[in-house]
Amino acid sequence: MTYPPTSRTRLRKVAALLAGMVALVSAPLAAKQEPQRARNVILFLGDAGGLSTLNAAGILAHDKPQSLYIQSMPHIGLSDTSSTDRWVTDSAAGMTAIMTGRKTGNGVVSMAPGPGGAPLKTLLEYAEERGLSTGVVTNMKIWDATPAACYAHAASRKSKDEIFAQMLRPRFGNGVDILLGKGKADALASFSARGTSAQQAFTGAGYRFGDDPALIGSASRAVVLRDEDYAPLPAVSATVKQLARNPKGYFLMVEWDMHTDDPQAGLRHVIEMDDMIRQISAQAGKDTLILFTADHSFGLRLMGGKRGTPLQAQFDAEATKPGATPANNAVIPVDDGHSGEEVIAAASGPGAERVRGFFPNTQLFDVMLEAFGWR
Ligand SMILES: [Zn+2]
Repeated sequence: MTYPPTSRTRLRKVAALLAGMVALVSAPLAAKQEPQRARNVILFLGDAGGLSTLNAAGILAHDKPQSLYIQSMPHIGLSDTSSTDRWVTDSAAGMTAIMTGRKTGNGVVSMAPGPGGAPLKTLLEYAEERGLSTGVVTNMKIWDATPAACYAHAASRKSKDEIFAQMLRPRFGNGVDILLGKGKADALASFSARGTSAQQAFTGAGYRFGDDPALIGSASRAVVLRDEDYAPLPAVSATVKQLARNPKGYFLMVEWDMHTDDPQAGLRHVIEMDDMIRQISAQAGKDTLILFTADHSFGLRLMGGKRGTPLQAQFDAEATKPGATPANNAVIPVDDGHSGEEVIAAASGPGAERVRGFFPNTQLFDVMLEAFGWR
């Protein structure tokens, strides 16, 4: 078919216009598209960081609703935390479900429930098996249930010596590359009871060992144990920087304790972790799945407070009244204990879109495994 010249010119113009429009529409889409697979996964675990705790901490810190970075993350789901024997889980069973994709009984660390339960392979062990770098960072004791469920298998979370021993007896790869947490005194006692020293044991396994978080980055493998708090951001940032040297990628779990039996400390920890997630997400880059969740919720709720005056002042006034206890605070009372309602999971990066709706906590294991492309 032939067209007169004027009509052909007009057609070309229309075609050019259409092409331009397509380019305009598709260019931002293409630019926005994130990589299909995650090179790295960072799991931020707010221990006891239920939705009501996030809500109270955010308003307390910023006097604005939904002001946390976590509350701006693009993919959100609600995770059931029950264990195989209780509606209200402890940290051991809660973290086992997230790290292994299998629920177990309260108190059990990454093993199947019941007597003779088999060890369950953890996501960290999958990563070690494939040659990725791995890290476990916590502001709790390094042998406590949540970090232990990443690298150890024990019928009881109280098996401190066995958990320390398993740090140096990995089933896959060469074990966790960077371990940072509290429990230095426990480690010294545990290794000396077996006729060695923590220094000897960790150095012998190729680790730089000490109590200064600044050690991280000075060697590819480091164990930093202390009994005092430390500044979270420089330590986690140095950990990410070190792990990212592995071209195959890394898996990092960061636990921050958000138990609010001491409400001031617990709520402050929420803000610390929220700031950490904001900064580390930017540092880690687009090929990293960032996942925040809690192992279980806790009995703290925002129950009062006027808008227009800082909530912190109202909370403090309640807390310093004669006879005040965390339980009878009219602004943010605490019913001391874990609770059984769903917790949020919030995610960004490759594979984050699988976090949506209501699901069992075991599904978070699938989310991480699929993000790596291992299923
Ligand atoms: Zn917990």
